[in-house]
Amino acid sequence: MKYTAEQPHLVDFHCHLDLYPDHEALIAECDQACVATLAVTTTPKAWPRNRDLAQTSTHVRVALGLHPQLVAARESEMLLFERYLPEARYVGEVGLDASPRYFRSFEAQERVFSRVLAACAEQGGKILTVHSVRAVSKVLNHLDRGLPPPRGQVILHWFTGTAAEARRAAERGCYFSINSQMLRVPRHRQLVSCLPADRLLTETDGPFVQAKGRPIRPSAVADTVTELASLRDEPVDVMATRIVSNLHALVASAASGR
Ligand code: MN
Repeated sequence: MKYTAEQPHLVDFHCHLDLYPDHEALIAECDQACVATLAVTTTPKAWPRNRDLAQTSTHVRVALGLHPQLVAARESEMLLFERYLPEARYVGEVGLDASPRYFRSFEAQERVFSRVLAACAEQGGKILTVHSVRAVSKVLNHLDRGLPPPRGQVILHWFTGTAAEARRAAERGCYFSINSQMLRVPRHRQLVSCLPADRLLTETDGPFVQAKGRPIRPSAVADTVTELASLRDEPVDVMATRIVSNLHALVASAASGR
């Protein structure tokens, strides 16, 4: 499971491969372009197919998820989540969403997220990609209570919190996966420019993010690496190497928490 067989050139650590019409072709594309890709899922029912399709992939890993925006309808699938968790090293998409459309299910979301964290803490060694829309402080409170750092590693995906929340997250060991859409928003660009260099990863969050009018594909993270490099005033190859080595460090520290 270490990324040593063939070094990845790029990292897309949050992409919904199973929501593209050409899921299998996309896996082959990630392998061909050497993109270390985390295929996140939104419901535990999607786990077996995602797992099977990525079984022989060099660079695609699959995460077991229960998306906070689906919790209202799918809380009962937590049983399935708990059943599959022992075979999943990666977990996501999970988290909390307090935006107006999903606020009504917030209590259920908190119940589910607590259970996800408790199960991950018990098993150890998991890497989670976490959604925190309008709920960063609440997410961090849950992590402090439910998944103290040695029990699991956390990537905050599409982070849109405040600078103080970013500092708090970094202090407890969180990573941040940055996508092209975040870099379109001045306040988020500013935030990304201040994140610790050793916690940066990249993602597409495709197909929800588009590029040139079409769902973005994992190899397009190359553009995000270029933009990150210019935003943080570093050569592109230094930034590219940094992101791959951050991924190695993340995977290694999760393994040591087993
Ligand atoms: Mn997502």
